Amino acid sequence: MSLVVTLGAIAAGLTAAVGFSFPSAQAAPTTPRAPRPAAARSSAAHVRSSAAHARASAAPVRSAAAAPTRSSTTRSSTASSSTARASTARSSGSTAPQGGAPALTRAEQIERCWQPPGRGVSLTFDDYGSTAQVKRIVAILDRNHVRGRFFPIGAWARANPSLVRYMEAHGHAVGNHTYDHPDLTGLSNAAVAREIAGGAQAYGSPALLRPPYGAGAFTTRIRRAAAAQGLKVCFWTVDTRDWAGASAATIVRRVLHGDATTPPARADGVVLMHMFGRHTAAALQPMIDGLRAKHLKLEHA
Ligand SMILES: [Zn+2]
Repeated sequence: MSLVVTLGAIAAGLTAAVGFSFPSAQAAPTTPRAPRPAAARSSAAHVRSSAAHARASAAPVRSAAAAPTRSSTTRSSTASSSTARASTARSSGSTAPQGGAPALTRAEQIERCWQPPGRGVSLTFDDYGSTAQVKRIVAILDRNHVRGRFFPIGAWARANPSLVRYMEAHGHAVGNHTYDHPDLTGLSNAAVAREIAGGAQAYGSPALLRPPYGAGAFTTRIRRAAAAQGLKVCFWTVDTRDWAGASAATIVRRVLHGDATTPPARADGVVLMHMFGRHTAAALQPMIDGLRAKHLKLEHA
């Protein structure tokens, strides 16, 4: 069995474990290629998910300067893309600092989603959510004058155009997260192009692509595929792992203080969350308050 096949199988297993359950109230895409309604609540999935967490928790803490460890959902591609990232960082290097500010490597730009320095911490929300979840998140962002970045799965965005318009109408950015959320590193160039073309239309400058699971974010191939459609690749610096049902307190603690698998938010960092997270919306207000208490600026419109 080839390594690629093995990793693909692991990715498929984790995808099933994490699950993409479109709330029944939301019209789920009917295409057979859409994310699977999930077995996320099944005990078998739970066990696999817990095992993945155990592996993720066993990962060593990285230094503050290093890239964050990714969520267990991305572990299938961690080895290959960490190598790619390291090589990207080495080969792109830093240009000479100007005006005393250290230049960012390409890998750092990808992690920060190409934000200009000083724009503030970005709060990002992936995948899909119920109408209530999306509107609650938008309401909290609006109340705090914070600009969020949403990366809906294309299939969901097509089934819920009014919710995507709602995000945009409230001044939030929308990025491309592909059509049906595959690990792009396992697809042909043509299939990658189709997945990106079917993703939600990206609004915001620069227009961003967040590859599912972050897989391939630091590879030349995915960067070129994104650029061919006018997009820049966006990763994250803080992984809340809210998708696994983390409590609001845990999510907030990870963002403010980090833990064994993620560093905390720093200036111009990018926080990864998910619209469907059970406690994501509840974590939002204390998270914003806590970041501001640490004198960290948040991205605003
Ligand atoms: Zn996603």
